[in-house]
Amino acid sequence: MSDATIIDGKAFAAGLREKVAAAVTGLKDRHGLEARLDVVLVGDDPASHVYVRNKGKQTEEAGMVSVEHRLAVDAPEQELLGLIDRVNGDPAVNGILVQLPLPDQIDEQKVTAAISPEKDVDGFHVVNVGRLWTGAEAPVPCTPYGCLLMLKETLGDLKGKRAMVLGRSNIVGKPMAALLLAEHCTVNIAHSRTRDLPERCAEAEILVVAVGRPEMVRGDWIKPGATVIDVGINRIDAPEKGANEDGSPKTRLVGDVAFDEAVKVAGAITPVPGGVGPMTIACLLRNTVIAACRQNGLPDPEV
Ligand code: NDP
Repeated sequence: MSDATIIDGKAFAAGLREKVAAAVTGLKDRHGLEARLDVVLVGDDPASHVYVRNKGKQTEEAGMVSVEHRLAVDAPEQELLGLIDRVNGDPAVNGILVQLPLPDQIDEQKVTAAISPEKDVDGFHVVNVGRLWTGAEAPVPCTPYGCLLMLKETLGDLKGKRAMVLGRSNIVGKPMAALLLAEHCTVNIAHSRTRDLPERCAEAEILVVAVGRPEMVRGDWIKPGATVIDVGINRIDAPEKGANEDGSPKTRLVGDVAFDEAVKVAGAITPVPGGVGPMTIACLLRNTVIAACRQNGLPDPEV
């Protein structure tokens, strides 16, 4: 059997960003409207800084207005809630994203609930979660939506396919399952208490893995010919790359799937890096331009 097709998330994401940029131009040219995304960053977590910088850069490249709000690591919850209240009420702001994780003094659920559902471009607000599961119009969480787009592009119609979602987090596993169900897949959701996990995974024609465990899913967990979407991003030591100046080993990124084994069994697979990751921000931009249209009573753009 030949190796799996590698699903090129970077290329998909570039295509989606182009469509978003065209929609943003249309909004400006035809309606004189700007699309604007406000990102809130609390504290000084280095990884969050990188994400926020990337989001801002790509938002501007798509022609949208990007505004960053920074709060100190010890900012009280009320300060963040006050800021959210202000941007909720500002008609110029179409999308609001609070970068997670938040410092301990701030209740994440309270913050998510405070964002206006119409501006919740992450799709994490309970109202939007309910809308997603009931088939109503809602912003869809970015990472699972990116996975869905790649699955549809790879497989076409997903109707009737046996899908396994490994992981049940609110930001990836659960919304992924909802999206696959809406596409008429027969969906299983597995987690840390699932029995016979390798066998259950090996039944799936579509396997989406989001567990945060480096290379946990082995080649023999995969049904021959299955489409595998690896959401995991894990940094592991890579002594084969040598050492850093301080003597610590260099590191590399791996997914939740043992890629070298899986690529020999699967029909198609996303790599890490270069698979799901790039799609996440592209989907955030998509959600923002859609939010801008909906807030101005315009039909959804073609993105
Ligand atoms: P969470 O830690 O919130 O959830 C992990 C899920 O995996 C849980 O449901 C947990 O089960 C399950 N799980 C953990 N260990 C096992 C195990 N040994 N066997 C079976 N199930 C297990 O993670 P996230 O969903 O937030 O993220 C998952 C991965 O995806 C991470 O690597 C993260 O970095 C990555 N990620 C990537 C993104 C991207 O843009 N590409 C975006 C978001 C996440 P239980 O519920 O029973 O505890």
